[in-house]
Amino acid sequence: MQLWLKHEHFSTLIAHAQQALPQEACGVLLGVGDEVREVIALKNASPTPKTHYIIEPQRLIHAIIDGQKRGLGLVGLYHSHPSARPIPSTTDIMEAQYPDTPYVIISLKQAKPKIAAWHIHYGTVTPVALYIGDTRERDAIDEKLSRAQKIAIILAALVAVLLVLVISFSLLPPPPPLTMP
Ligand SMILES: [Zn+2]
Repeated sequence: MQLWLKHEHFSTLIAHAQQALPQEACGVLLGVGDEVREVIALKNASPTPKTHYIIEPQRLIHAIIDGQKRGLGLVGLYHSHPSARPIPSTTDIMEAQYPDTPYVIISLKQAKPKIAAWHIHYGTVTPVALYIGDTRERDAIDEKLSRAQKIAIILAALVAVLLVLVISFSLLPPPPPLTMP
């Protein structure tokens, strides 16, 4: 799985992330196959938008239907991390609802913005190769993960699994009271 982003769209994503500061920006990527053709910025509906994002389902569906009229499909979902690395947080992993759609994260942690794409498949996170360039003969960005990044992803995924377990246990009914003979 890979994703191809032209310079124009790359710049749009970074501009949106910067405009949204100090909040997280979010939106969808529409395109054909693995090629992004449009960046659609959507409102961050989270009550805590500085550290979290929510794309309202109606807005998402509307953007997808609108894209279909132009022959475009959903090729990615994006959001920004104002002060964190471009890797999925525990919340990102827990709340991911599109296992087949790449999640693009724009990080403004450092002076030079960074973008990375991920597959979040029911708690399993794998990098999606992201190409940035204007032609198919593209300059591949070498998205080799550092050891620290790998560990961070594994930890985030573990915490997500643990939280899901804790939540499911807390939803179990209490055990029946013991009756003495
Ligand atoms: Zn995030």
